[in-house]
Amino acid sequence: MPVIAENIASIKQKITSSVKLVAVSKTRPVRDILVAYNAGQRCFGENRVQEILNKKDLLPSDIEWHLIGHLQTNKVKYIVPFIRMIQSVDTFKLLNIINSEATKIDRKVDCLLQFHIAEEETKFGFNMGEALEMLESKEFMSLNNVRISGVMGMATFTSDTVQVRKEFDNLTDYFSTLKKKFFADEPLFKEISMGMSGDYETAVKAGTTIVRIGSLIFGERNKK
Ligand SMILES: *Cc1c(COP(=O)(O)O)cnc(C)c1O
Repeated sequence: MPVIAENIASIKQKITSSVKLVAVSKTRPVRDILVAYNAGQRCFGENRVQEILNKKDLLPSDIEWHLIGHLQTNKVKYIVPFIRMIQSVDTFKLLNIINSEATKIDRKVDCLLQFHIAEEETKFGFNMGEALEMLESKEFMSLNNVRISGVMGMATFTSDTVQVRKEFDNLTDYFSTLKKKFFADEPLFKEISMGMSGDYETAVKAGTTIVRIGSLIFGERNKK
């Protein structure tokens, strides 16, 4: 399926080299991931712990795995040893558990704070008040085995690019506010993960640093 390689190449032409492409491989078979890998793609995103665990051992070990979906606290311990980044940290409790599992194996885990920016009720994430409360707390300052590298968000699923742009601009504002207030001396707080198959070009205009793209690379997912 060389079309996967062509799809990656054409996305790469539309994002600048400073934007990282996470190929979202959830529901895709290992053979499709290998095609992308052989085209040079090293960074893959999955939303289920069990699925990453199943696939990871069948694939090259230099793949960077990003978790992009809601993470249950009882599953944290399975991914902390190898995950490159947990993009979907949506509660203080979860961050605490990531920190304690990472402490046990002396690792520092890169995390993004997921913000709720869409209109839809169902999407996970912090609001600004919750994030401020966490970042200002003493308890947060004692977490030495997680590194907050930026923010992540999903826009409303709509073809209204004006609305999507507004939501991405909100996320960018959250990033800047947190950067100024808490991470001014932390060069590694630098990521804004926004943009999927349907809206990544809008995200690029709004200043994204990481796009997470699945269907545009691998084709439509089967609806469950
Ligand atoms: C599935 C998913 C994506 C990719 O979606 P596509 O529309 O297939 O590009 C990106 N981000 C998250 C959080 C997802 O769950």
